[in-house]
Amino acid sequence: MKFICLKCESYLLYDMQEKIEESIGITFKCPQCGYRLAMIANAGETQLVHSMGIKIGGRTSPPEALEMTRTNLDEGAETGIDWSEEAERRLEQIPPFVRPMAKTGIERFARERGYREITLPVMEEAKKRFMG
Ligand SMILES: [Zn+2]
Repeated sequence: MKFICLKCESYLLYDMQEKIEESIGITFKCPQCGYRLAMIANAGETQLVHSMGIKIGGRTSPPEALEMTRTNLDEGAETGIDWSEEAERRLEQIPPFVRPMAKTGIERFARERGYREITLPVMEEAKKRFMG
């Protein structure tokens, strides 16, 4: 089983995982456009996850190749946008599982607007836009 980015038609790569109570949240990321997809697997579905070749068990033992990919992707996604201390604190209040997606979204928003730094007002602006 693989996920495909409909925009770029390239395979999404395994990005990261978070444990959410009894379930495991796994995110995938498009190497082309940075699009992210998340799936939640409960304990009974972890077999499926294993069949996708993903190792479950926290961040201490991810395969090295994936770790490399992740680092490269993150570097590619960041184009010199800074987070103010306040904004970072606010980001930390977002549940860990959705935080990477929120962060990417806000950074994309900031980039579109030409902001170099993400501050609380920028986050508010981004939030307003995401909520329509
Ligand atoms: Zn894509």
